[in-house]
Amino acid sequence: MFSVNRSRSTLALNSNCGGLCPAAPVTVLPHPTSQALFGHKSTTTMSHIHVRLFACATLVATLCLSASASDTAPRVTPEAALSRLTEGNKRFVEGAATHPDQTAEHRVEVAGGQHPFAIVLTCADSRLSPEIIFDQGIGDIFVVRNAGNLLDDHVLGSIEYAVEHLHATLIVVLGHTKCGAVSAAVAGGEAPGHIKSIIESLSDAVAMAKRKPGDPVDNAVRISAKLSAAALAKAEPIVGEAVKSGELQVMAARYDIATGQVDFLK
Ligand SMILES: [Zn+2]
Repeated sequence: MFSVNRSRSTLALNSNCGGLCPAAPVTVLPHPTSQALFGHKSTTTMSHIHVRLFACATLVATLCLSASASDTAPRVTPEAALSRLTEGNKRFVEGAATHPDQTAEHRVEVAGGQHPFAIVLTCADSRLSPEIIFDQGIGDIFVVRNAGNLLDDHVLGSIEYAVEHLHATLIVVLGHTKCGAVSAAVAGGEAPGHIKSIIESLSDAVAMAKRKPGDPVDNAVRISAKLSAAALAKAEPIVGEAVKSGELQVMAARYDIATGQVDFLK
């Protein structure tokens, strides 16, 4: 199970991203902070090495503490995790949400250790909070968000942590209708500031979407989610190994911001 990989995981946080496209992986350069933390630069001074060693030791201790707190939690199968999300979304769509795991008692309970059953990578759009649309509560879902639900090293590292140490068994890459990031990428033109990097990262999905019939924005939303899910499923070492062993599933999905419906994509 996951214990086989545990001793390796803290070093694996700086592993390469699988990229957005499985056919043509995009290499994401390590952030300068990551370089400093893991000591990749050759011009390092001894004092910097000490700082880095301390930072690494702190990170290891933090991860180990979190892992031990979650080791006693029962693990659900990927299929059971998917059922929980599907049933929760059905309740939400029907206006019959039960708002589970949101009591003060549950808040205190999970303060001692988190064990989310699923990981959701989704857009930062204010209209699709995963806990609400899947009718889940505190500690149920490990959520990673950015505009356009893009995959990069920070996102992958966060997901690896949730797989390796929190033992989540399902990853959902969730795009959504009328996504502003995807719409801007389809529209083209110059994007200001750092928005440009988001648009550039969506370019493969947009190019593929424009070659298909139908609405290019909706096509790109679907394609982008599928590409990220496919890249995640192959991302070595942690996620890819867990998928190969059958302990973890990765799925793409699309949320309709008007109906509330989540459709899992084939
Ligand atoms: Zn969006």
